[in-house]
Amino acid sequence: MSGINVYAHYTSEEDYPDLDYTGACERLARAISCKTIDHGEKTEGAPFERLHALVRSSFPHIMAASTFEEVGRNLLITCPGTDPSLPCALLLAHQDVVPVVPGTENDWLHDAFAGELDETFVWGRGALDIKDMLMGELEALEYLLARGNRPRRTVILAFGADEETASAGATKLAAILEARGVRAEWLLDEGTTTMFAGALWGAPERVLTDVCISQKGYLDLRLDAHGEGGHSSNPFGGTSLERLSVAISHLVESRPAPELTPIVRDTFRALAPHITEEQLRTLVQDVDANAEKIASLAAARRGLYPFVVTTMAVDMLEGGSAAPNVMPGDASATINFRLLPGTTADDVLAWVEGALDGTGVTATAVHYTPAGRMDSTSGAGYAEVSEALEHYYRDVDVVPSFVCGGTDAIRYEAVCDSILRVIPFRPTPEEEATGVHGVNERISRRTYAQGIRVLVRLLERTVL
Ligand SMILES: [Zn+2]
Repeated sequence: MSGINVYAHYTSEEDYPDLDYTGACERLARAISCKTIDHGEKTEGAPFERLHALVRSSFPHIMAASTFEEVGRNLLITCPGTDPSLPCALLLAHQDVVPVVPGTENDWLHDAFAGELDETFVWGRGALDIKDMLMGELEALEYLLARGNRPRRTVILAFGADEETASAGATKLAAILEARGVRAEWLLDEGTTTMFAGALWGAPERVLTDVCISQKGYLDLRLDAHGEGGHSSNPFGGTSLERLSVAISHLVESRPAPELTPIVRDTFRALAPHITEEQLRTLVQDVDANAEKIASLAAARRGLYPFVVTTMAVDMLEGGSAAPNVMPGDASATINFRLLPGTTADDVLAWVEGALDGTGVTATAVHYTPAGRMDSTSGAGYAEVSEALEHYYRDVDVVPSFVCGGTDAIRYEAVCDSILRVIPFRPTPEEEATGVHGVNERISRRTYAQGIRVLVRLLERTVL
């Protein structure tokens, strides 16, 4: 982790002095105290109902101006604009949070679901992922409405209830919008959240933050090797584990070369004037001509590796024998792939089947979410989001990128051509690294207030 002092980049914190930042922190704490964990069919509904009640009671101007729909546990809030001919602005977040990791309960300085706040922080699960964004979007819109503004453009807030698990809520909400013929000018959803050192990209003098315009795909593949068992004194033809191991080693040896997607080419182009590290500095003078060389340099760095590689992680092995003198029966391995934008499951399967040829091992896709569409830095909202970030975080270069995990945003591709994955809040890299899905998740009051300012400015400039 870099030692970036994010607060040294905060600026214009005096904006919107009449916004109730203290109340906003208290409302965020109450939202955190709703233990909204998705457990599929076993999900407890009451915490979600409490969160819905909190939203209803906390934002009177939004409630007066909007329709509030509960679609199962998912929420759709539509604040109609005065000009119905304009495509809407779509603000996303998810209500659900991940559980506390078993065994880490005692490492938390404050109970993860108590909704505690002190002079500096709002504490608890969801403070960064992602009740800050859910409540912050509402705070920003409420602030504007309370001051007599009527948006020209319709604003729709869509809050799924199971992003961390099935993401079925987002699929459902997107289908409703599509059926209604709703079009979104741009969509804002979670993405990366903090600032990072430009050194990774060969620009050691710079601090970066990114707006993600795609996301990687997700594929679990199971490899199966048939085995007959039997006494290991005659392993003629090899055991199932042996065939499986050979198959895995063929995959490892034949991995596709790293590649520079159009988005990462844009990242390097945006940074080119600041890149001082050789050989990168010379190569990025013509990114397209040198794409292969840049990709292999990037692939040699842990922090850039996932941005230039469809990654493959061999994660699960099943089916070994219980005794050293007994050959195993059927054996399987599960491999998790994260697909670069532009790469499909069929591409991966074609490569895998080629590599498995002659091994007697078969491959089956067991779970697949495609990579996101690659949107454009010239798409709607990109410039405005970048401007708002640059306005509140000085001396930070905003660059395009993509999310290496998954988010709900991909479900909305049919209703929006410009999907922007970026969280307006900038916690310290340490807070982000330990807190998100980890322990002592918290957001500082200062970080929360600054992110709300980003959202207010963005809405002022795009929907009023
Ligand atoms: Zn999240």
